Amino acid sequence: MQRGYEPVESPDETTVFPYHDLTPPTTRDVFRARRTVDRYLPETPLVRDEWLSAELDADVYLKREDTLPTGAFKVRGGVTLVANLDPEFHKHGLVAASTGNHGQSVAYAGRTFDVPVTICVPEDANPKKVEAMEQFGARIEFAGSDFDEARERAEELATERPYRYVHSANEPALLAGVATSGLEIVEELPEIDVCFAPIGGGSCASGYCLTIGELLDAEVVGVQSAQAPAMYHAWTDGHLEAHDTMETTAEGLATRVPFAVTMELLRERLDDFVLVDDSATLAALREAFVQSRVVMEGACATCVAAALEQSEELRGKTVVLPVTGRNISTEKFGALLSE
Ligand SMILES: *Cc1c(COP(=O)(O)O)cnc(C)c1O
Repeated sequence: MQRGYEPVESPDETTVFPYHDLTPPTTRDVFRARRTVDRYLPETPLVRDEWLSAELDADVYLKREDTLPTGAFKVRGGVTLVANLDPEFHKHGLVAASTGNHGQSVAYAGRTFDVPVTICVPEDANPKKVEAMEQFGARIEFAGSDFDEARERAEELATERPYRYVHSANEPALLAGVATSGLEIVEELPEIDVCFAPIGGGSCASGYCLTIGELLDAEVVGVQSAQAPAMYHAWTDGHLEAHDTMETTAEGLATRVPFAVTMELLRERLDDFVLVDDSATLAALREAFVQSRVVMEGACATCVAAALEQSEELRGKTVVLPVTGRNISTEKFGALLSE
């Protein structure tokens, strides 16, 4: 069996390979990615939310990324990356590490373009997400107790076999694809004042910075869990060091290691970055269902919690909150609702 690729010097604590281009994408790249995304995925609705609009005395819209076929925004990036992948990688296939939604995105894109996919997931991964990855035809390898351990296994696999390692952030094509959500918002609601974005690896927030932040007179505010603040500390202090605490219940945001390409974009363009406590996130998640019948996973409900905490500043404004994903485990959701 052929060996994998040798890693090259990395700008952060993750492993990158010679095929990784570490140049951040531009708004022009997003415009180009739109053609791919439009071809393979439906445009997502932007819907006014009556509960949050009344609660904040503002015009609040939800960008329903949960209506994408994987139930989360990341598939925009997976499809864009695999659609533009060098054909040399088609045969051996792709490997990625994920707590779930990045894995679903890569698996979905692999199925669309007929490329084999292996996903390394932490041992305690959300079973609903693992099942979905398998449904999209991915091979699953359980490795380690959290995202970063699964990531190290995926990086190791990519040196053993000639797989194309799909990094969850240091991938310009993936970031450009994710950002197409922002172009849809720009066209539909140019009067927007503030857009919130949850931050784990930073792809989602980078995308809104490259579109809403670049093209409109609007602010993009990043939100991270206070229980997993790796990117927050990197952004505030200007470094890329790992952060040792990572206890969040929002698995979509659970990383200890900040990523170089998204951090470069966010340091330059993100207007503000706030932390919210998981207890506020879980309360917001529950309320979003009770009041608006929208199912969110924790990663996404961080933005609702942040908006509710900033109600003073948001009064009278036009606000967008992306529903970045709906793939909460039945167990977690049931327990929250019965509280
Ligand atoms: C991955 C994810 C996030 C965080 O996005 P990043 O691009 O990693 O910062 C937020 N919400 C959901 C549902 C996710 O899957």
